[in-house]
Amino acid sequence: MDNRHTPGPVFVVKHPGGGWSIQDRDGGVGRCIAMRYGDSSEDNARLLAASYNAFDAAASRLNLNAVELAERMQSGMLADLLKALEDLHGSAPEVQGGICQHCGRDYIGDDSMALSGDCPSDDCPAHIARVLAAEVRGTV
Ligand SMILES: [Zn+2]
Repeated sequence: MDNRHTPGPVFVVKHPGGGWSIQDRDGGVGRCIAMRYGDSSEDNARLLAASYNAFDAAASRLNLNAVELAERMQSGMLADLLKALEDLHGSAPEVQGGICQHCGRDYIGDDSMALSGDCPSDDCPAHIARVLAAEVRGTV
């Protein structure tokens, strides 16, 4: 891994001279890494900063180069990954007959749990996939 970009997170700051600045925090002091001016400049700066932070954080967790990861995904691959995750998860209830079909947990005899529905276990891959997909779609 060869990450030579400015480490995130970066922030959007209204520039006193006009426009919007995307800044990192070098020793607690804002340092401009990009400026946006003109129509839609605030939204453009927010999009750039959020994208920067998303790829910087993802690459760090995956031990990948953030620039290369972003370049590989620039054609909409994030949407393809989300759709594939949702397809893998499927629409059938996670828990069927009291047993989670993904993590195998047995909810039979658990009066607080229906015998069919969503698995509530935080370490269940189906639970994780369902929650992450909803967060990405902004439906939670
Ligand atoms: Zn489960």
